[in-house]
Amino acid sequence: MTIDNLPPLRDVIATHDLAAKKSLGQNFLLDLNLTAKIARLAGDLTGADVLEIGPGPGGLTRGLLAEGARRVLAIEKDPRCMPVLAEIAAAYPGRLQAINGDALDVNPLVHLTPPIKVAANLPYNVGTELLVRWLTPPEWPPFWDSLTLMFQREVAQRIVAQPGTKAYGRLALLAQWRSDPSIVMDLPPEAFSPPPKVSSAVVHLRALPAPRFEANPATLNRVVAAAFNQRRKMLRSALKSLSPDAEEYLKIAGIKPTERAEQLSLEEFCALARAFDA
Ligand code: SAM
Repeated sequence: MTIDNLPPLRDVIATHDLAAKKSLGQNFLLDLNLTAKIARLAGDLTGADVLEIGPGPGGLTRGLLAEGARRVLAIEKDPRCMPVLAEIAAAYPGRLQAINGDALDVNPLVHLTPPIKVAANLPYNVGTELLVRWLTPPEWPPFWDSLTLMFQREVAQRIVAQPGTKAYGRLALLAQWRSDPSIVMDLPPEAFSPPPKVSSAVVHLRALPAPRFEANPATLNRVVAAAFNQRRKMLRSALKSLSPDAEEYLKIAGIKPTERAEQLSLEEFCALARAFDA
């Protein structure tokens, strides 16, 4: 079964000599039914522009287009993929724009019209950096309505982690403060070609119209960073690097100075950031 009239991905890879390169984090999805399923996890794509990072041979790109995306902007670092992406663009006239470049350097906003969704089987080496960028824009709400992203399972667990767990940290707080992340699909290594060493998961994050709790983003970021830099220490010592009055601020925020970062909820971190600012 196929989702479009283009050749199967195995043939595309053979014809275009797209042997996967480890240096570019290339682990391709070859099952078009699976890529269409991932595209559906991004929600209703009709009437939305989609930003895709790292389309590679285009499995997810084809899924996004077949599922009705108004337009897809695909940014790919590997020039070998550009002829394949041009073939997909020809099969979906006016709906796919592929740019050859590094996603960390290209500003996609000049090419996109809201509403915008981001969907990607990310290169693992740049995935977390891109996620942090998308979660920390100068203004909120951000340019995107939702992010639907493939990560190593361990990173996915850090994004949705709750207090009191080992995975809980900066990434969880950053993601959960202004979006509602959830793991929506688990994938074993064999879903990819070549199979990576670890399992993967798709995380869906919907942007909230406003942060869950009031806090200055820069202060919250500094407090969270300091607290988790020394996650085993009591907060009164871990936060001393920020201010000699840290213990006082903890008390103002209603937090026991002997608590550790891992135990504080998002709401408590926001209260602490407000106490530092007051
Ligand atoms: N989306 C394809 C799929 O699902 O089969 C490929 C996924 S593969 C895990 C990651 C893709 O990102 C590769 O095609 C790789 O060349 C590309 N890539 C790696 N680093 C990149 C960067 N900095 N900017 C844009 N693309 C990048």
